[in-house]
Amino acid sequence: MADDNAANKWRPATNLVRGGTNRSNFAETSEGIFMTSGYIYDTAEQAQRAFQGEEERFIYSRFSNPTVGMFESRMALLEGAATGRATSTGMAAVNAAIASSVRSGDRLVASKALFGSCDYICRDLMPRYGVQSTMVDGTNLAEWEAALSEPTAVVFMETPSNPQMDIIDIKAVSELAHKVGARVIIDNVFATPILQKPLELGADVVVYSATKHIDGQGRAMGGCILTDDLEWADGDLLQFMRHTGPSLSPFNAWVHLKGLETLEIRVERHCRSAQKVAEFLEGNSAVKKVLFPGLESHPQYALAQEQMSGPGTVVCFEIDGDMARTFKFLNAMELIDISNNLGDAKSLMTHPATTTHQRVGPEGRAEVGITDSLVRLSVGLEDVDDIIEDLDQALKA
Ligand SMILES: *Cc1c(COP(=O)(O)O)cnc(C)c1O
Repeated sequence: MADDNAANKWRPATNLVRGGTNRSNFAETSEGIFMTSGYIYDTAEQAQRAFQGEEERFIYSRFSNPTVGMFESRMALLEGAATGRATSTGMAAVNAAIASSVRSGDRLVASKALFGSCDYICRDLMPRYGVQSTMVDGTNLAEWEAALSEPTAVVFMETPSNPQMDIIDIKAVSELAHKVGARVIIDNVFATPILQKPLELGADVVVYSATKHIDGQGRAMGGCILTDDLEWADGDLLQFMRHTGPSLSPFNAWVHLKGLETLEIRVERHCRSAQKVAEFLEGNSAVKKVLFPGLESHPQYALAQEQMSGPGTVVCFEIDGDMARTFKFLNAMELIDISNNLGDAKSLMTHPATTTHQRVGPEGRAEVGITDSLVRLSVGLEDVDDIIEDLDQALKA
């Protein structure tokens, strides 16, 4: 149950702080945390009207909640979407968006370079329910064209991808997808809502893990689904959300509302530091390869410049050496923590092959270029010179 965003006239930075705010009769400054599972009715007739959909009001927090509603409204304003639905995690958002768009016999086309759990949904889970899934090299338009030559229900992709940092042409793929009737769902976690606007590029649905940059301080899980397609949002998606229950906790929604207030300034700083870190790594002899959309050496640098307003906050690189050498480097870090999360105020480093992408298996990793010496660095908000000094000493170790 969101506010009427159509009447909103503020600029994006103002909306990040105030958009969607729905004050209670206590006139609180900070958004209220409505930690309630249910709501009461004045009369039995009112309850009846509420359940018949004749009176719009809160019924049950699996359906909607005032704090969650504020988060959904603010997210929709930020994305420039007609509506938003919050979820308990980013994966709940991915799953709800895909599962409520397909039925047995449908086709799903997805890019191969996916986060491990997204890969599981597309490649393993959907086929169990009779949805045929085709995986393509997302950077190769000819592969998209071939895969999208027959009717398709859903196209799913991450761009930039985790952790190869592949950039996919959202506009071109959306055009191909729409010709065969597909709904284009973009996992926009790596770009953040600040750096890339998939709906403006032709996509139909954007999904986020709010656990990453939106919280940004490693505290709360959450997710969000954003779209202009009100028929789907108020139809299949709404029914899926209400009856399968991937709803966001009001407390976590409140944490994410607070996160949104500082999202833009944090992402700006993350990007600036990530660019410096990438440039440092590119010139280091212990590093074989750096993957960062802000470097001219990135294979899709031009496309990144075109569809993103900044390079992103994550730098991936390959250590010149084997897995033992790579682990030695990871264990030598003093400031940067080893962790599988990203988008945090703290700089965090991951070894995808043995953690986030372990499940994909050696062949699966080889197929998408995840080697044993690849590491992923989520550049934090610390002083960038401290981050670079830590990398420098660990690379020398
Ligand atoms: C983390 C992540 C997810 C899943 O989000 P959770 O909040 O951890 O469930 C999905 N896609 C990408 C690209 C991610 O990085």
